[in-house]
Amino acid sequence: MTVSSESSPGTTPGSSPRPAGAAGPAGAPAGDTDASARRLAYVTVGVPTLGFAGAVVFAFHYGISAVDIGLLAGMYLVTSLGVEGGFHRFFSHLSFTARPGVTAFWGIAGSMAAQGPIVFWVATHRQHHAFTDRDGDPHSPRPLEDGRRFPRVRGFWHGHVGWLFTVRRQNWSKYVPDLMRNRLVMKINQYYFGWVLAGLALPALLGWALTGGSARGAAGGLLWGGLARIFLLDHVTWSVNSIGHTLGNRPHRTRDDSRNVAALAPFSVGGSWHNNHHAKPALAHNRHTFWQIDIAGGVIRLLDVLGLVSHVRYPKRARSE
Ligand SMILES: [Zn+2]
Ligand SMILES: [Zn+2]
Repeated sequence: MTVSSESSPGTTPGSSPRPAGAAGPAGAPAGDTDASARRLAYVTVGVPTLGFAGAVVFAFHYGISAVDIGLLAGMYLVTSLGVEGGFHRFFSHLSFTARPGVTAFWGIAGSMAAQGPIVFWVATHRQHHAFTDRDGDPHSPRPLEDGRRFPRVRGFWHGHVGWLFTVRRQNWSKYVPDLMRNRLVMKINQYYFGWVLAGLALPALLGWALTGGSARGAAGGLLWGGLARIFLLDHVTWSVNSIGHTLGNRPHRTRDDSRNVAALAPFSVGGSWHNNHHAKPALAHNRHTFWQIDIAGGVIRLLDVLGLVSHVRYPKRARSE
């Protein structure tokens, strides 16, 4: 299946409404939704949503402890870095290189975010860059002009989370030939569900241990450090796709509709400088102005200083600092 047949490079991105039924890549046969991806979407979206609700109910009964908050913050930091520093800047854009041990850390930390296995995440994201806000973009929040009501709201919903349920069947491997050749990455991809479960078990275990072996500590760790943490990071990441192509500043006149969303910068560890990113996607840093918080970029720089990563693609300004 080709995804490029209707993707005219001359199209003004962001200006053309998505035709009816064209939620997936251009040229996809009608109704050719990937059933297994759709099933996974129900788990990916549904379980953390129920878990977040469970965490809130749990907090009403048992309160929120410092251990709960610490596990939420700690697990959030590690997995958000796994998504933005690992899945996004390292695996998707190859903005630096790393030895196998560090590669494994990025891959496992990103997998624990439970946003899909590496191959799916990276292939989808590279497809997003190849067709940004045009037919073929898997998650553009453009208005859905299919004659039905509320085209903007439904387009936004599609870009945020709805797209996960309408992923088209296609050969993902053609977007990630480099990952397919990397045995370590394919092993991490293969054991995706194991990493997700480990990301739930770890905070539960820590919650249990840090509270002197109490069941309340384990439950708080599982709910806040595990499920609620996945839920919150999911929606921050997906907001970069939805809000980050709808609302915010556009200092760079890119050919797409990408935006910088300053309010999301700390929570997305720098990923929400999304207009900056689309302007220069290969860079390991998203910070184009000194005040723009980019935690993932800072961590990559620290790892570079420590000699744990190399060939980091810095913006010219950062290099002269
Ligand atoms: Zn984008
Ligand atoms: Zn990107």
